[in-house]
Amino acid sequence: MRIAVAGIGHETNTFSSLRTTLSDFWVRRGEECVPREIAEEFGAEVELAPCLIASATPNGMVTLSAYTELRDELLARLKLRMPFDGIYLSLHGAMEVEEIGDGETDLLRSIRRLVGPNMPIAASLDLHGNLSPEFVASVNILTALRTAPHIDGPETRVRAFRHLVQSIRQGVRLTTAMKKLPLLLPGENAVTATEPSKSLYAHISELESNEGIWDASLMIACAWTDSPHTSVSTLVVGEDGERASTLACEYGDLVWTKRHEFGPEVATIPLREAIARAMAATEGPVFVSDSGDNVTAGGAGDVSFMLGKLLTAGAKDVLYAGITDPAAVEACVAVGPGETVELSLGGKLDAINCQPLGITAKVLRVEGGTATVEVDDITVVITDGRRPFHTLESFEPSGIDPLSKRIVVVKQGYLAPELRERCSETFIALTPGFTDLRIACLPYRNLSRPIYPLDPI
Ligand SMILES: [Zn+2]
Repeated sequence: MRIAVAGIGHETNTFSSLRTTLSDFWVRRGEECVPREIAEEFGAEVELAPCLIASATPNGMVTLSAYTELRDELLARLKLRMPFDGIYLSLHGAMEVEEIGDGETDLLRSIRRLVGPNMPIAASLDLHGNLSPEFVASVNILTALRTAPHIDGPETRVRAFRHLVQSIRQGVRLTTAMKKLPLLLPGENAVTATEPSKSLYAHISELESNEGIWDASLMIACAWTDSPHTSVSTLVVGEDGERASTLACEYGDLVWTKRHEFGPEVATIPLREAIARAMAATEGPVFVSDSGDNVTAGGAGDVSFMLGKLLTAGAKDVLYAGITDPAAVEACVAVGPGETVELSLGGKLDAINCQPLGITAKVLRVEGGTATVEVDDITVVITDGRRPFHTLESFEPSGIDPLSKRIVVVKQGYLAPELRERCSETFIALTPGFTDLRIACLPYRNLSRPIYPLDPI
């Protein structure tokens, strides 16, 4: 058996004024593109035909030229590798492309044009994906992550691949059925370790115990992608399309009954209140999310608004990680550690939600595209590119141990488990930016309406 491996993955934040260009993509070609766990699990029994897998950090719309270049190379490589018995695709599910719209729909349309309607195709997805009916109908097997924060990437990819191999071996043609709900959820309101998400994801095993049902997924979707396909949906993969469709609807009904119960797992509070609460804490480190500028969901990473408020409030023993500002990093490199520098910080990538913040800071360290500076009693990490501080390792270039600080501000929504386990307290500050959690205030234009909770249903 011979299986082609390919994919283009992106989580697009359409509220961002930035664009995702070709140089933003990490492109792996040939052998290098095969996910390690798939090579390990199936390398001996399946002949792999690796083509191309491209992925990028969540960001604004993908430019037409970046997408078409990647798509056309993917198709050319697929054509070169023919014949094969099936295709495995590694996707995210929330890609929006300039002038095209839904990227996954266009990609699958192009692939089907090349391989025909009968070629078995499986795809693994992020649960923050917005799926069009045409896309779902073009793929036989769809399965998504079941954890947020995400810790089940490898097993999700293996599951998609295994279903594909087994269905080909058994000569079974699988169909994925989708039920879309008129429900919009920011990811922060659907952390899978908390209710109602926990029980709803646990329900998947019950669905899979039905005869002829191979898989099921609950898609939370990406609320910062303004598209007609942005909504919570359920997926069921089965041998009988009608049965799968019935179960997807029943699963969707169950999710719908819980719509009032979704909410953040930690306190989500206005900025002024968040700063006061952090400053009043008696034990550190308190981790506060600057949630409107969440780099892992397409925030620019250079909104210095909250930093300005912390300085005004006179917050002490703070680590602010970080601000993307290549010019500021350069200025720090130019003067060197120990020296004082005047900076006009941030507000260049996201000029909609903030203005550059003028500060006089002391340079503590410059290292690998990162400058660490101190202003009053606040240590600020400045980076030359958009970078999340979501693991302990990610703080290393700054030379600062975040656990030694009283207050740590990160540009995220929910905290990654590694930091969550180590902080004394964590909460989310409602701040401005491309990932503003106050979704009722976002300028949606393309959503299918009505949708809860924006409209009365
Ligand atoms: Zn995700």
